[in-house]
Amino acid sequence: MRITVIGTGYVGLVTGVSLAEIGHHVTCVDVDEAKVAMMANGISPIYEPELEQLMEKNIQSGHLSFTTELHFSSADVIYIAVGTPQLPDGTSDLQYIEQAALDIARSLTKDAIVVTKSTVPVGTNHWIKTLIEEATPKEIKITIVSNPEFLREGSAVYDTFNGDRIVIGTENNQGREILDDINASFGLPIYHTDLKSAEMIKYASNAFLATKISFINEISAICEKVGANVEDVAFGMGKDNRIGDKFLNAGIGYGGSCFPKDTNALVQIAGNNEHDFKLLKSVIKVNNSQRMKLVERAIEAVGDLSGKRISLLGLSFKPNTDDMREAASIPIAQELVNQGAHVVGFDPIAIPNARSFLPEEVQFKETIEETIRGADVALIITEWDVIKSIDLTAYTTLMTSPIVIDGRNCYSLDEVRRHPIHYISIGRPEIQ
Ligand code: NAD
Repeated sequence: MRITVIGTGYVGLVTGVSLAEIGHHVTCVDVDEAKVAMMANGISPIYEPELEQLMEKNIQSGHLSFTTELHFSSADVIYIAVGTPQLPDGTSDLQYIEQAALDIARSLTKDAIVVTKSTVPVGTNHWIKTLIEEATPKEIKITIVSNPEFLREGSAVYDTFNGDRIVIGTENNQGREILDDINASFGLPIYHTDLKSAEMIKYASNAFLATKISFINEISAICEKVGANVEDVAFGMGKDNRIGDKFLNAGIGYGGSCFPKDTNALVQIAGNNEHDFKLLKSVIKVNNSQRMKLVERAIEAVGDLSGKRISLLGLSFKPNTDDMREAASIPIAQELVNQGAHVVGFDPIAIPNARSFLPEEVQFKETIEETIRGADVALIITEWDVIKSIDLTAYTTLMTSPIVIDGRNCYSLDEVRRHPIHYISIGRPEIQ
C-alpha cells in the first residue's frame, strides 16, 4: 500500500516508520523544512527509543521517505497526524487539521481514503470529509476513517507493535477493509466502530486514566494526614482485577501534550452538548494543585526560598522522552524563580528543549552530581532511571543540607532510612 502521513511529530513519525516497517511504502510530509531535512538524513528530530534505528533501516530499504511537498495524488491512503493543541478556552485548535484537509483536497486526482490519527473532538471526522469534498471535483470519492492513537511517548515504537487494541471508526465497509489490511501485520486486536464512537474512545480513555491519577493523588493526601502509606494502599487496591494496578502511582500529577489538553477538550465537548462534566473538572483541578506540592513542601522544610539553591531532577513531562509540553517542571521552576530561589535543572535528554520552556534564570547541569552540589533542597520531578538509581550518599555528601522532596516516590523508604536524609515524598511517611 502507498501511504502518505501528514505531520511528523511523535505520532506521525512513529506511525510512518512503523507502517514502513511492516512493508508499506510510506511518504512522511511535514511543513517544517528543517525537520524534514534531518529526517531525510536518518536523524530523528525527537527522542524516542528504537525510532532512529527503524527510520534508518526503512529509508535504506526504500520503504520510507520524507518531503515538504504537499502532493498526495499518488497515495492510496492518507493519514492526518498533525497537532491539535489547546486553545485558551480549553477547546482543540483545529487549524492544522483544516490546513491538512485543504492541502489534501487541492492535490487529489482520484478517490482517497483519509485516516485521522490526530485526537479530534467528536464530529471532526465528518467535518474533515465535508471540507475535502467541498474543495474537490464531485466525481472524487472520499472515505474517512477515525483511527485514534494510543501510543505513549517514551515507548511509542514498542506500543505501536504491542498495543492493547487498534480502534478503527468507519462510515463504510471499504474504509474498514482497507484499514484492516494495512494494520494486519501488527497482529493486534482490532476494534471496529462508527466515527463518533472512535473519536470518543480516545477522549474517554485519556480522561479515565487522568481520573485514576487524580484519584490516587487525592488518596495520597489523605494518607499523609492519617499516617498511611499510599504505595501500600495502591498495591492492595491494584490486586483487585476490577481496579487493576496501572496508573495508581501517586505523584505530582500528569502532564504532557495529551492528558491536560484532552481532559480540557472533553470538558468543553460535554459543555457544548449541555452536559456539565463535574467529575472531570475536579480531576483537572486536583492535578493543577498537585504540581505545586513540591514547592509547598520546600517552603515547609526550609522557610523562605529566596536565595536558596534548589535542584530540579528530571525536567521532561515523563521519563524516556524529550517532550517538555505541559511538564510539571515548568510551573514549578517558575514559582521557585518567583520566590527568589536559585534554580538548577538536570535532565538526561530534555535540556535542549527545556531551555525554551523554563524561565531564563534556570541554570542547567549535565550530571545529577553537578546539579545537587551545594543545593539546599533537591526536588525530584521526573522518575528517569538514572535518578532512581543514584547512590543516595550523593545527596548527603554533595548537598549543603540533604533535603530531598520526591514528587515521584523514586526510593524505597527502607533504603532512605539508611542515610541521613530529610526525605519527603508523596503520600508516604516523612523521614527526618
Ligand atoms: P506534534 O506537535 O509533535 O507534531 C505535529 C507535526 O505536524 C509537526 O511536525 C508540524 O510541523 C506538522 N504539521 C502541522 N501542520 C501541518 C500541515 N498542514 N502539513 C504537514 N505537516 C504539518 O504532535 P504529536 O504530539 O505527534 O500529536 C499529533 C496528534 O496526535 C495530536 O492530535 C495529539 O493529540 C495526538 N496524539 C498524540 C500523542 C502523543 O503522545 N504525542 C498520543 C496520542 C495521540
